[in-house]
Amino acid sequence: MKNIYFLGECMVELRAMSESKLHQSFAGDVYNSAVYLKRCYPDVGTSLVTALGQDSLSKQMLTRFKSEELNTQFVFAHDDKVPGMYYIETDDTGERSFTYWRSDSAAKKVVDFLNADIVEQLSSGDMFFFSGISLAVIEESARDKFWKTIEQLKNAGVKIVFDPNYRARLWKDTDETKAQYHLAFSLADITLPGVEDLTTLYDIHSVEAVIDYLKPYKIQEIIVKNGPESVITKEGETLLSHTIIPVTHVVDTTSAGDAFNGVYLGARLSGRTTTDAVQLAAKAAGTVIQQPGAIIPKDIFQLAMTEAGI
Ligand code: AMP
Repeated sequence: MKNIYFLGECMVELRAMSESKLHQSFAGDVYNSAVYLKRCYPDVGTSLVTALGQDSLSKQMLTRFKSEELNTQFVFAHDDKVPGMYYIETDDTGERSFTYWRSDSAAKKVVDFLNADIVEQLSSGDMFFFSGISLAVIEESARDKFWKTIEQLKNAGVKIVFDPNYRARLWKDTDETKAQYHLAFSLADITLPGVEDLTTLYDIHSVEAVIDYLKPYKIQEIIVKNGPESVITKEGETLLSHTIIPVTHVVDTTSAGDAFNGVYLGARLSGRTTTDAVQLAAKAAGTVIQQPGAIIPKDIFQLAMTEAGI
């Protein structure tokens, strides 16, 4: 069985339904990716590496992870922290705004739980994924240990996968981000950047510029996402452009990139070519953006993916 680990934060999501009604669910970039991967590829062992608390929302979250058939062996329980939370409001024009409570969340402590025994267990995996959001969430004081762990996993033959997924508000400044991203690109075997993510940081505006920027790094597989425009892949020295069929009825793009990542990596772990993997990943992302919320109903998703030939 192939195994992939997703390190990061899952949060409680609250969405205003009316003045007195809130809808509660769970979401976070790495969690979203893990869910969509597992829904398409049940034979790929898919684990979350995160920290929750001992509270009832943490217990509900753990139950949800299990109901999505994710491996929770590396979901740690912090003694006195609780999960992060965010609230989504939609104004009269359909514009969404987000308010976060995540600056003291349990997930910030995840690296504290990565002892030698855990790292040894993770070393037998095939891929280890983290994002720019994961990097921003882990505490500054834990970064050295985090990078040493990533080096250890890489040396053990685990493919390191990085999606820059840039969220400015999570970082002190762009110098801090760039320093962390440099380490991530230096160790990554696979990266899945979106053009938009790199625009603010590096003044990059095109897929070609992303490929150019990443040239000095020894990354075996680069997948550049650019909304409905196209996807460019570079595997070794082979550069390919893939056409995406644009979706006209876009409802909510929140987890498009996450769904893309999960299905792409699941397809690659299941032996699909980069071209097949991009088409399946784009189908997944195109399906997810036609429904509200980060995690769409399982039946709608699976029907679309079965039609796509998963
Ligand atoms: P983005 O994060 O905006 O680059 O989007 C991630 C992925 O979602 C893209 O690579 C596409 O596969 C898919 N996607 C985003 N927007 C659209 C759209 N309007 N129509 C079809 N697919 C889309």
